Amino acid sequence: MQEITRILHSLPIDPLTGAISVPVYQTATFVQEAPGENKGFDYARSNNPTRQVLENLIARLEHGRRGLAFASGLAAIDCVLKLLQSGDEIVAVDDIYGGSFRLFTHVYEKFGVKVHYVDTTDPNNILDVLSPKTRLVWLETPTNPTLKITDIEAVSRLLARVSDSCRRPLLVVDNTFASPALQRPLELGADIVIHSATKYLAGHSDVIAGLLAVHDEELGDRLKFFQNACGGILGPWDSWLTIRGIETLPLRVEAHCRNALAVARALSEHKAVAEVFYPGLPAHPNHAIAARQQRGLGGGVVSFTLKDDTEEAARAFVTGTRLFKLAESLGGVKSLVCHPATMTHKSIPEEKRHAAGVRDSLIRLSCGIEGAADLVDDVRLGLEAVGSGSSSGSGSGSGSDSDRRESRTESRDGSSSSRDSRQLAVTV
Ligand code: PLP
Repeated sequence: MQEITRILHSLPIDPLTGAISVPVYQTATFVQEAPGENKGFDYARSNNPTRQVLENLIARLEHGRRGLAFASGLAAIDCVLKLLQSGDEIVAVDDIYGGSFRLFTHVYEKFGVKVHYVDTTDPNNILDVLSPKTRLVWLETPTNPTLKITDIEAVSRLLARVSDSCRRPLLVVDNTFASPALQRPLELGADIVIHSATKYLAGHSDVIAGLLAVHDEELGDRLKFFQNACGGILGPWDSWLTIRGIETLPLRVEAHCRNALAVARALSEHKAVAEVFYPGLPAHPNHAIAARQQRGLGGGVVSFTLKDDTEEAARAFVTGTRLFKLAESLGGVKSLVCHPATMTHKSIPEEKRHAAGVRDSLIRLSCGIEGAADLVDDVRLGLEAVGSGSSSGSGSGSGSDSDRRESRTESRDGSSSSRDSRQLAVTV
């Protein structure tokens, strides 16, 4: 059966009414016949029927046995970290999402958890820092934002080889960027898969949500305990929105990937662009692994640097596009552009950020499901703004802050034609 059919027909029809859409059980508690005698639900932090459908759905999508839904991706990550004790260590991918870095470093290190960041594209780098204290090996693949690829199966094999079964660290994969439509880490040897469901799974930039899935029932029970004990659960409405998004996941992801490839090719040919990071391009250093691990598709995100490797040049681009809206996040149907150095990754110290390849001019594009030709035109428009030095005035002190703010607002104002507003951005 094709994945889209499997997803749509795994969602239950409501047994009470026949409703084809999963009902939203907006309730805090459930009436019991006698103490402890209930219909499987007692209090909605512990369990909720709408959330349960979503939790079963993510388990099925990731080919695991247990799923859990959280108030955000970071709440899901936090739940996994609750497995640790003081003195435990994590080995994490160096180009990690800034929020995960902040949680690891600024929250958990103070409880005595140590984190080693390494370039996991070469699994042997993990060996250099692996110790009997290592409890988690934390991967993101593709990474955010330089889209490095780690071979999940190779890391899993390596962990099995070097550690006996009782000391083997758990392999955790943040699958946010690929989504289960492209990659299923549990099938490649991972123990836990986590998602910012805010991104591709929910898919419409209208909900903040986190999910995790595991294969091992006992591990599932431990995580479920922390979910209930700490309380960072996803509410019923947001669970419903996430289910609704997942119903079209395979269709959307194919469109995201198609558009991203077209945009990556156009960027590669442009003279203002220094480097393009896209696993779907044969020039990407891990293209072969990505092709094998991600069903031959490169994903919906493209990052690139400019020959003029400055924050000002990046600023000209991110304020020069019309369809790519400047915003944090990714994975929604509408295209977004982001400048990681000053947005998503600003909590990472500059030297660590540079070491991980997040240069000052690096720009991340989340390609939506609009027409590919429109997105390519829009990227060219952004690059024209770089070429024309529309924001270089900001560096030379030729305009006041409020002038510059005004020029950005005007240049993004959909009420005037894009050409007029572009000229305004250049001349103000
Ligand atoms: N993991 C990755 C790879 C992310 O990009 C993000 C957010 O951007 C998160 C986790 C955190 O998810 P949320 O924003 O839903 O808490």
